Order: sequence, then C-alpha cells, then structure tokens
Amino acid sequence: MIQPLSTTHSADLFQRALVHIPGGVNSPVRAFKGVGGGPLFFKKGQGAHITDADGNRFIDYVGAWGPMILGHSHPKVVSALHEQLNDGTAFGAPTELEVLMAEKICALMPSIQSVRLVNSGTEATMSAIRLARGFTGRDKVVKFDGCYHGHVDSLLVKAGSGALTFGAPDSAGIPADTARQTFVLPYNDAEAAALLFAAHGDEIAAVIVEPVAGNMNLVLPAPGFLDALRQLTEKHGALLIFDEVMTGFRVALGGAQSLYEVTPDLTTLGKVIGGGLPVGAFGGRCDVMAKLAPEGPVYQAGTLSGNPLAVAAGLVVLEEISRPEFFIELGGKAAQMLHGLQRAADSAGIPFTTTQAGGMFGCFFNENRQIESLAHVMNSNVPRFRTYFHLMLAQGVYLAPSAFEAGFISQAHSEEDIARTIEAAARAFGEVAQLAR
Ligand SMILES: *Cc1c(COP(=O)(O)O)cnc(C)c1O
Repeated sequence: MIQPLSTTHSADLFQRALVHIPGGVNSPVRAFKGVGGGPLFFKKGQGAHITDADGNRFIDYVGAWGPMILGHSHPKVVSALHEQLNDGTAFGAPTELEVLMAEKICALMPSIQSVRLVNSGTEATMSAIRLARGFTGRDKVVKFDGCYHGHVDSLLVKAGSGALTFGAPDSAGIPADTARQTFVLPYNDAEAAALLFAAHGDEIAAVIVEPVAGNMNLVLPAPGFLDALRQLTEKHGALLIFDEVMTGFRVALGGAQSLYEVTPDLTTLGKVIGGGLPVGAFGGRCDVMAKLAPEGPVYQAGTLSGNPLAVAAGLVVLEEISRPEFFIELGGKAAQMLHGLQRAADSAGIPFTTTQAGGMFGCFFNENRQIESLAHVMNSNVPRFRTYFHLMLAQGVYLAPSAFEAGFISQAHSEEDIARTIEAAARAFGEVAQLAR
C-alpha cells in the first residue's frame, strides 16, 4: 500500500486562508475541488522540484500552469531579476527591455508585426477581443466549447445544447446581453463553423480559439480544423485570434501556429513569456494593431504593463528556449514519459490514453484512444483519476489537481525524474486496478 503524506502544515495554512481569502485560494484551480482534500501550500521551487510547507518534495508537472519551462528558479532568470531589482521595478514610462521583448516576440512569431504587453493572459484576450470589435465594427465573437480564454465576461461562456444557439453565461455576474454576443461551437467541428458563418458571417468580429486546446486536458486540433477557421474568417471579414497564452513558446518555439502552419490575424500570449512573473501580450497584423490607442480609437492601458522585472525574466526564458535543440529535447522528455505511463497502464489493464504537443501533455482514463472534443474528454473516468492523483501525490509526484487540466514538463526534468514518475505511476495503476476489481 502507498502511504499518505503528512500535510499538517498545509492543512493549518488552508484553515487560516479560509478565514480571509475566498475559498482559501487566489485562483479556483488551486483548490483541490476536482480531487478532494485540501490544497498543498508551497514554499520552494528548484528545477523540476517543489517543496511544500511540510517539507515534502515533489516532481512538479504543473509548472505554475505552464510558465516554468526552464524549471523553477533557473539561475539565469534569478540573476536577471537581481540585476533589474537594483535598477528599479517600475517607471510607468518606456524602457529598452520592452523594445527588446517586442523585437524578440515578432522575430519568433512572424504573424506578429506589432505587439502590446499586458499583465496577464486574461488581459490579453480581453484586449484582443475589444480590438477585433473596434477594427471590424462588429460585436459577435465565436469561441469553442472547452476552450478557456481567461475570465473575460464575453468569453466565460460554454455551449448550450445546440451548437448554433447563443451561449449562456458560465459564471454568475455576466449580463445575459454580454453572453449573447458569443457563439459557442464544438471544438474541431469545422462544419458547425461553416454553418454559423453562412448564417451570421457579417456580424462576427472574431473567432478565438486555442490552436491546441489545453484547458480541457489536452486536445489536438483535427487535421484541417484550423485551416477551415482561417478560410472562413478571411472570407467573411472576421479576424482569427489564436489564443496561445498556453501554447505560445511551449509547444514549439514559434507556437502552435508554426506547428500547424496557419497564420492568425491576432495572437494572445502569456505564461512562458513572463518566466513566472505576471505578463501577457497580444499582437498581430500591423493594420489591426494600429487601431490601438494612442494610434487609434481602441483604448487599452496598464500601469504596470511591460513591467521591467517581468520582462527581464521573460527575455531570459525566450533566449534559453531559442537554443536549436531545446524543443527537440523537451518534446523527447514528454514523449518518453508518456510512453512509460502508457506501458504501465496497459500492463495494469487500465484503459488510458495520452496526447502531447511539445512540452505539454494530456492523460486520460478513457477507453477511447482518439480524444478530439470536450465530449470525448468528459467521458473520462474521473473517480479513477482522483484515486490516481492522490496515489501519485503520496509518492512525490505533483500533478494538476483536476482530470481536465493539461500537464507541463520542463527542461529541468531529468531522466531520473521521469523514471521515478513512471515507477510511481506503475504502482498507482496497480492499486487503481485492484480497486476496480
Ligand atoms: C491561462 C490561460 C489564459 C488566462 O491567462 P491568465 O494569465 O490566467 O489570465 C487565457 N487563455 C489560455 C489559453 C490560457 O491557458
């Protein structure tokens, strides 16, 4: 039997947190609602490892939900931050760092000719939507079921039953009128998109999509899906927005748009470009970006936008991942681990399948080996994931505390980390199989 960890310090902190922080956390995914029990509180991260308040050490596959592609406390990031600290942390005025960052982003993602920095992924998508509306003079936006684009009012909308009906709000506090501006379609359903454009094409400002969907576990785009969106938007005068907050500089150096060779009008970024500090960005076609204030009529602003500390950290990360072999190595590590997990699940007789895009991966307790939509994802055996999650945690492997989140690997994960993860998974699958009998 795998013994549970001692987590009394985390439990105490959670009790205190509950008194003055709603739900005890500053972002809902951190609560262990999806797996049961209380969240762990962390005090240290080093490379691929994180240490909780009780001193338990874990191999980390959350990576702060994506940013930590170099691992925690990378020495070059740390020294860039130290250097910048001595020179000031905010001016509310332009800096050379921002110019370097803009030049780097535009060089790595040629669809981006002009880019604005913000403080989070949510700000990036919110601003991109406003810009698309300002540019096209249209109000409606299209999103896909299971894609997450931050907590922007008009994007916190899922599909109702009918794919072509107007969306209903997914959160309290969103005006019905706002939700009605959003059409929701099934992911990977190009035909549904064609039907929608045939009926409403001249009202649609933009289609926003995760080119690899990383917020319903990990679902890859079906062949031709992204191309179809490109063609439809172009034909109807709508903008195509790739939300690469998660996939940008994570699935490949040039993002998902380089892997699938589809050029969006606008791209949103976040996570990796901040190197673990709060940064987001949105950019794209010059003529569209020229509509932003102070050039154009679409207002967008931020006191701490382009923050020197965050940009200094992000620049180091972009430099490091630009090394020619970086993504070959990172993708190799993820593939090696997934291969090991698959073999372990197969030999335990547990229905299991995986997906991968560069340094992101998905794991599903699912009979279906072809995961293409939210409906497929929802068919996964969630109770089985919960058991597996806690068994992995008890063995020092920290996975995202939900069956519907992607996993992240970093450059810092070693052969030994991967081997230990596979061994832990083999034991966990064994116990899961026993429970199923
Ligand atoms: C994380 C994420 C966001 C939101 O970014 P925040 O920095 O959490 O606001 C938006 N889009 C996608 C695809 C994301 O994964």
